[in-house]
Amino acid sequence: MKYIFVTGGVVSSLGKGLTAAALGTLLEHRGLKVALQKFDPYLNVDPGTMSPFQHGEVYVLDDGAETDLDLGHYERFTHTKLTRFNNLTSGQVYQTVLNNEREGKYLGKTVQVIPHVTDEIQKRIYLVGEMTKADVVITEIGGTTGDIEGLPFLEAIREFAQDVGPNNAIFIHVTYVPFIKAAGELKTKPTQQSVAKLREIGITPHIIACRCEYPLNKDVRQKIALFCNVPFEAVIEAKDVDHSIYEMPLMLQRERMDELVCRLLHLDVPRPDMRSWQEIIRKLIAPAHRVRIAVVGKYIELQDAYKSVYEAVIHGGIAHDCGVQIEKLDAEQIEGEGAERVLKGIGGILVPGGFGERGIEGKIAAARYARENNVPYLGLCLGMQIATIEFGRNVLGLAGAHSTEFQRDTPHPVIDLQEDQREVRMKGGTMRLGSQVCQLVAGTRIQRLYDAASVKERHRHRYEFNNRYRASYEAAGFVIAGMTPDGSLVECIELRDHPFYCAVQYHPEFQSKPNAPHPLFRGFIEAVHDNLHRRPLLGPVGA
Ligand code: GLN
Repeated sequence: MKYIFVTGGVVSSLGKGLTAAALGTLLEHRGLKVALQKFDPYLNVDPGTMSPFQHGEVYVLDDGAETDLDLGHYERFTHTKLTRFNNLTSGQVYQTVLNNEREGKYLGKTVQVIPHVTDEIQKRIYLVGEMTKADVVITEIGGTTGDIEGLPFLEAIREFAQDVGPNNAIFIHVTYVPFIKAAGELKTKPTQQSVAKLREIGITPHIIACRCEYPLNKDVRQKIALFCNVPFEAVIEAKDVDHSIYEMPLMLQRERMDELVCRLLHLDVPRPDMRSWQEIIRKLIAPAHRVRIAVVGKYIELQDAYKSVYEAVIHGGIAHDCGVQIEKLDAEQIEGEGAERVLKGIGGILVPGGFGERGIEGKIAAARYARENNVPYLGLCLGMQIATIEFGRNVLGLAGAHSTEFQRDTPHPVIDLQEDQREVRMKGGTMRLGSQVCQLVAGTRIQRLYDAASVKERHRHRYEFNNRYRASYEAAGFVIAGMTPDGSLVECIELRDHPFYCAVQYHPEFQSKPNAPHPLFRGFIEAVHDNLHRRPLLGPVGA
């Protein structure tokens, strides 16, 4: 088994996760089985309890693990199967070590960062390798070199690389090469210094991936090679991509990163055939059609809060050779200005998942606008609860209908807590989480889109459709399109008299890939596109 460690220097948000994922794509296309995992040095056990302002999206895996959003990149860029073991935080490491200590497992020894904490970290690398039977395990270390909290992880991977030997483990360091306008120059000093920091703790990177806004010229590359002690060819230019993150694998291939990695790790595998991936990029850069949709949310100003949703919508477009322009709309803006004004001319409306009361009325107004104006609507998790509240209030006349999450004493709790959630006191990891079976109702739009009798989708919520109201909803054209196999929980709904109004209690966005768009997003974009004839949006390109 071969191991690649990806570290980051200079600043955060350099796209280490994307670099790791894109390298994974290239290695897979060379016929290798790849595993990816992320180490996060923070003390939270998982990001499930963190605010999107702190952390961005929480990405949910099949097994219900709430993980870092980089795992979303891993799943979208490769076929790797991820479990809760693929995201390790300092919180988990210390929890394990302290539990061991209480159980007396350390036989009277003083418990220390080295070796007890570092051993736990290393065990995880071996474990993921064994579980996945991968040829190559790529491990991304969160944070930036120089962070105090990252030190145990760096020490652990240094020792690990020693143990497995020189041709079996390599280090890739992702850094930033800024362009200083006043000097008209790219500057290599931050890179030199962050590599020096790594070398202080005994890690010499084999490859330096330089994030930059301008191309690295020969001089700059030579300088980095000299000062960072790597061959010239190991200085990789990772320039900002022009159109899409999915260009990353092709960019790294042009820089021969995969070739170098294979050479360093003595992997004798053919060059990757990237033609199908290139076709995806072609559709993203020059699509035959275009549509404009709105995502109505609460964390709209944050790039990362709805990452998988934005990606899945783009995948839905790829399925139809259709570029998707996403308008990110703040639900509170709709509350202030009115849905009519804000949403006019929008081709489709998507309400993603969310928690907390802020912006709820704006989302309800958006759902109403979609229903009344025949605008395609896709509701995800909270988006289904919103659709339910809206329909209750405005179609069934249930005045004050609400979710008990937002109004405990609502006269019509159309969305309510399940019995088993009422007793829950601990916040972390206690929602309805992970992949569960949804039995689809034959002949519904959603069932036809899936083209299956049942599906497995990932959940992350506490509240559910209240079955007490089911009969009156159904009688008015609110179709229950999917349930849990025991018939107890509503999983997806659609409106009978509408071109496309679908909403699901789960998170389909976590299972969409550029080369395998999720059926619901495919259907949503198709519906938006087909509505073009009635209500021209941006129109076909060139029209
Ligand atoms: N807040 C809602 C619940 O807990 C929806 C959660 C979500 O959208 N992920 O049920």
